[in-house]
Amino acid sequence: MNALNRVEISARALRHNFGVCRHYAADAAILAMVKGEAYGHGMVDCARLFVAEGAASLGVAQVGEGVTLRQAGITAPIFVLAGITPQSAAVAVEHGLTPVIGDGSSLDELAFQARRVGRTVRLHLKMDAGMGRQGTLPGEMSALIQGVLDRPGLAIDGILAHFPEADEPGAASSSQVVETFRVTSRQLEQQFGRRWCLHLANSGGLLYVSGARFDMVRPGIMLYGSYPDAHATPEVTPALQLQPAMRFSSQVIQVRQLPAGTGLGYGHSWTSARPTTIAVLPVGYSNGYLRRLSNRASVLIRGRRVPVVGRVSMNLTMVDATDLEQVEVGDEAVLLGTQQGEAISADEIGAWMETISYEVLCLFGGLNRRSFLE
Ligand SMILES: *Cc1c(COP(=O)(O)O)cnc(C)c1O
Repeated sequence: MNALNRVEISARALRHNFGVCRHYAADAAILAMVKGEAYGHGMVDCARLFVAEGAASLGVAQVGEGVTLRQAGITAPIFVLAGITPQSAAVAVEHGLTPVIGDGSSLDELAFQARRVGRTVRLHLKMDAGMGRQGTLPGEMSALIQGVLDRPGLAIDGILAHFPEADEPGAASSSQVVETFRVTSRQLEQQFGRRWCLHLANSGGLLYVSGARFDMVRPGIMLYGSYPDAHATPEVTPALQLQPAMRFSSQVIQVRQLPAGTGLGYGHSWTSARPTTIAVLPVGYSNGYLRRLSNRASVLIRGRRVPVVGRVSMNLTMVDATDLEQVEVGDEAVLLGTQQGEAISADEIGAWMETISYEVLCLFGGLNRRSFLE
């Protein structure tokens, strides 16, 4: 307990959220997304937990993350969703990772590596069904498939696409993407006389888009307890409500009584209007508590909200604790999560930071000491 700032991850909440995914996924397989250090929650611990709960496979962005999972002893299929290059193909094949291919640029190298290790390398192909980021346009998928089938040592296991706006319930693009993906993939299956594993839905697709389930789903954010749309928390029973898994806390390291008219911190961006009790916290933008939170955020001390005042600096933040009955050095300050029934959510902090919960979780989890609580 020597770190003043702590990120705690609740395994219980993660298990609960996996169960909620299971409910929405019905009989579709679940590929648990653990990229970005599991959205800041710790990739290896989360990967183990999701596999134990029944995840069919795991999703990372780059080969290096997949290698880390293999070195931790994880044997489940690991999809590399973004970063297969000719340079990384050898390592991907050696570690038995599942390459997701957006075009044909790595096929020669993958086929070469397949021959080298004497194993068939099984691929998933990424279609650009409307996302407009990675992948191959529907009309060019047939040529890509043929390119794989023409190379001994390579095989196709699946076809996937990704939503651009599934986080917005009712977005017109979502039903369009479902339709494009459904029609194109069925056509390709007919043309080539095979059946592939089709997958499209991220958390938003799973929660908000009908017909998006197909054979497998790829939830990320909902596993960690946030809804893709901060404003559209579905009305469901508690058993189906997501539970935030991350809690970020600090502690009071100094309490000061300051007279009215005192300018606080860099730039004197806040001046006390009354005799004021200031509590100083040893947390700042080097911990992901961004400078943008200055004079905007609140934290929880003794179960009550107190406002951040003055500039958040690299390692220090001040809060106005005047309205608390008592505050002492060593008091816990909760920046994200719950304390005595009061809560600050990643969505709320995201609004203060002008970003989304995903980024808040990656920042806090990525920049602080983490503990995984059973
Ligand atoms: C990140 C990602 C997901 C998960 O998205 P969430 O919105 O976090 O559920 C699914 N599929 C792909 C391709 C991704 O990159």
